[in-house]
Amino acid sequence: MIQSNTITKELDVYAIRQQFPALNRQVKGQPLVYFDNAATTQKPQVVIDALVDYYTNYNANVHRGIHTLAEEATAAFEASRDAARQFINASSREEIIFTRGTTEGINLVAYTWGRKNIKAGDEIIITEMEHHSNIVPWQILCEEKGATLKMIPQQDGTLLLDEYKKLLSSKTKLVSVVHVSNALGTVNPVEEIIKLAHQAGAKVLIDGAQSTVHLDIDVQALDCDFFAFSSHKVYGPTGIGVLYGKKQLLEAMPPFQGGGEMIKEVTLEKTTYADLPYKFEAGTPNIGDAVVLKAALDYVSKIGKAKIRNHENELLAYATEQLVQLPGLRVIGNAANKVSVVSFVIDKVHPQDIGILLDNRGIAVRTGHHCAQPLMACYGIPGTIRASFAMYNTKEEIDSLITGLQKALKMLL
Ligand SMILES: *Cc1c(COP(=O)(O)O)cnc(C)c1O
Repeated sequence: MIQSNTITKELDVYAIRQQFPALNRQVKGQPLVYFDNAATTQKPQVVIDALVDYYTNYNANVHRGIHTLAEEATAAFEASRDAARQFINASSREEIIFTRGTTEGINLVAYTWGRKNIKAGDEIIITEMEHHSNIVPWQILCEEKGATLKMIPQQDGTLLLDEYKKLLSSKTKLVSVVHVSNALGTVNPVEEIIKLAHQAGAKVLIDGAQSTVHLDIDVQALDCDFFAFSSHKVYGPTGIGVLYGKKQLLEAMPPFQGGGEMIKEVTLEKTTYADLPYKFEAGTPNIGDAVVLKAALDYVSKIGKAKIRNHENELLAYATEQLVQLPGLRVIGNAANKVSVVSFVIDKVHPQDIGILLDNRGIAVRTGHHCAQPLMACYGIPGTIRASFAMYNTKEEIDSLITGLQKALKMLL
């Protein structure tokens, strides 16, 4: 009994690697070490096969045709919506809107809910560790409306909640916060942030671009008003994502784009809009990628997020332990609660030089500001080197990274 428990706790990472064809390739004559998972994950064969299957066998436009292919495409498209609903535990499928990704989801809320509800003098609160896609839409909105954008400060990767409490007031209309920082790996205490925002009468949007792949997401338990994520960071295709919104809010919101699919009836005088979620899905959607999202989510669920998380946490601990032993290396972001992202700088070397030298050894890391320039400004640095780990990464690969860094430093210093 105990033995089988121990076994089920572990992930068979070598078997999993076999399911990701990209991991078999070589880069610059070396086996690929892919540590840029926070930018996008590689895709398992089941996801690639599902895309080929869609275009090979049942490509058709959805919701319109009565022919067999259209019915099959529609059924698969809507089954994917159900899978997404289940993955984040939304209470109804009408609350699941397909978007192009997290960026479009946040912009949708800014352009519809925001345009309707934000007025001069109102305040929107974000954090210092936001991705640009959770900064710029609010800047545009605030400028248009004469509202003010405020930021919760952070220290060494941890948000200062006491400062957040001071920012909250009756002027606060929206709090829009990243669940997990792509640049630092910090898991933010969103439960508490949401509770405090609601006490102040504000709505809350959670940027789930990084959290959805690592953490169990339950939008009902979180009680967030909106939640956005991207398929491509959860082992699915690019170009598709999900915006969750509470039904009453979505119903009261004006549409985003106008066109086909989002209407009930159009006359030249007046148009009535389709019911949820179609009101927000104008035009022919990205059917193929939406269909395939289900394959990705099913794949992750079948392996089990808890198992994946254990493995990734082990990789994070192992990598951090090795990295801090390198001379002049400083980890940026040391929050107590992190996912498998480690960002660092090294004295006297430019992150980009390290990135190029690592690529020569087949190791893919990300260097730069990670679309979080205000955060980099907090640290007074232009950027970091970031290694982010996924379910298919191994300790041997981390050893290659350490060796690669040692060799790079020998050359650069
Ligand atoms: C990637 C990312 C986004 C943007 O996602 P897209 O897929 O590019 O739309 C937003 N926020 C965070 C935290 C991210 O990591």
